[in-house]
Amino acid sequence: MTDLPGIVITGASGRMGQMLINTVLGSDKCKLVGAIERTGHDWVGRDVGEAMGGLTNGVIVTDDALEAFSRAQAVIDFTAPAATVAFSALAAQAHCVHVIGTTGMTDDDISKLGAAAHHCTIVRAGNMSLGVNLLTKITKMVAQALDDDFDIEVVEAHHNRKVDAPSGTALMLGEAAAEGRGVILADVSESGRDGITGARTRGDIGFSAIRGGDVVGEHDVMFLGDGERIILRHVASDRSLFAKGALKAALWGQTQKPGEYDMMDVLGL
Ligand code: NAP
Repeated sequence: MTDLPGIVITGASGRMGQMLINTVLGSDKCKLVGAIERTGHDWVGRDVGEAMGGLTNGVIVTDDALEAFSRAQAVIDFTAPAATVAFSALAAQAHCVHVIGTTGMTDDDISKLGAAAHHCTIVRAGNMSLGVNLLTKITKMVAQALDDDFDIEVVEAHHNRKVDAPSGTALMLGEAAAEGRGVILADVSESGRDGITGARTRGDIGFSAIRGGDVVGEHDVMFLGDGERIILRHVASDRSLFAKGALKAALWGQTQKPGEYDMMDVLGL
């Protein structure tokens, strides 16, 4: 058992944090060696199993990320952009794989990950599920096959506590559509339509976000032409699929050279 890769989970009390902890505890390919929460959080100092309302498992929640990372082979991080940027420097220092599921990162945040990737393997994806990564690939193919007689719209729905929009997955799909069309997404992206917006600009890629209830994540990529529509859809009904994908990335990363990777690399798509 001792030579199994050790995994640390950041944002331990979060929705994804708890899902990740249960996924690691249920795996026979790795072991949980740390759980991080921020200084002052009432979970710090408590056994993470007990804090989650279950049995104790001997892993005490800590706010000392570097110390925990230095005992681990991988960190799985679904938190917030500022935290993820700070964790990436610490993961680089500790030379452990950093799997990043955090969304809402700016270009500036992402550029800061580059320095860390000289020293450690980073796998970052706005969506860790096999289905969405396949959908991304298919979106690029369809966008390549159709010209801009077809308007592209990405529509996504998430639970009412999500703080960023469009979702990381919607942006991933938009990027794939833009790549398929041979354009830069930033040049054609259109989101947050409201009021007298004028007619749709030919070639734009539009984004719309629905927020409500406990929706785990739904994404439609629509290709709307005259007289026909093609709609590619992914529906996530259980958060565990993201955790399973993240764990797969953490294990895959053990044999990779330092650098930045995504789930397409992990899944060989
Ligand atoms: P959540 O329930 O709000 O959990 C976020 C966790 O991160 C909390 O434990 C929070 O601690 C912690 N955190 C936030 N800021 C921090 C900081 N500065 N330092 C340390 N810890 C910090 O959110 P969630 O639903 O689990 O989602 C987390 C992230 O994962 C979001 O960006 C979401 O979009 C993304 N996500 C990605 C995928 C994917 O497949 N890539 C799938 C699902 C979700 P506090 O409670 O103390 O704030």
